[in-house]
Amino acid sequence: MRLILLGPPGAGKGTQATRLAKRFNILHLSTGDMLRAAVAAGTPVGLRVKDVMERGELVSDDIVIDIISDRVDEPDAADGFILDGFPRTVAQAEALSVLLEEKGLTLDCVIAIAVKDEALIERITGRYSCAKCGAGYHDVYHNPKVEGVCDTCGGTEFIRRADDNVETVKSRLLAYHGQTVPLIDHYTLKKLLTNVDGMANIDDITEEIAGVMAGISG
Ligand code: AMP
Repeated sequence: MRLILLGPPGAGKGTQATRLAKRFNILHLSTGDMLRAAVAAGTPVGLRVKDVMERGELVSDDIVIDIISDRVDEPDAADGFILDGFPRTVAQAEALSVLLEEKGLTLDCVIAIAVKDEALIERITGRYSCAKCGAGYHDVYHNPKVEGVCDTCGGTEFIRRADDNVETVKSRLLAYHGQTVPLIDHYTLKKLLTNVDGMANIDDITEEIAGVMAGISG
């Protein structure tokens, strides 16, 4: 099964993709995570994208298309994947359909998670994660049960993304509305789109998407 989670930054794509990938035993592919890893490792790609990401703009299509094209060839992608944060432009969507076709693969569905901009800024600027296992938390909505100790792994170090600040979030939202929203029409025309209310309870959203996925896998 191959699907895309579409939505603005802070819509919960990463959280939902992590849960659903685990439940359906398929790969979670986040271009944001891959780019952050490249920046952290100081690779040539990382050096090229660091400033662009810090400004909250989109990195060039060719970079992310190359990353995804290589990654879906890996053996662990054979049973399917959830794309989180890719595609983000119509050019990326078109490149994705060409590369899947070349590999004899199909895209099963696109889930669009909708959240109002007002809610997104608060969601994003409050989030942080465990430096050891990546478990996600939020200053207002979800702190660890024991202060300063990760619920999942017991880690005591927490990190915030460099681009999760108010100024950068505004640029990221501009990029979303200008460059990514057209994908909603793009995939509606292809009859692949399912809309999900991202303001709903987080567990209910998981169940709703899982229901769509179960329908596909039959
Ligand atoms: P994310 O973790 O998905 O919020 O992505 C963080 C940042 O990585 C974005 O603000 C972009 O700078 C960059 N990025 C991630 N995915 C893409 C993509 N598909 N196209 C262009 N830039 C991307």
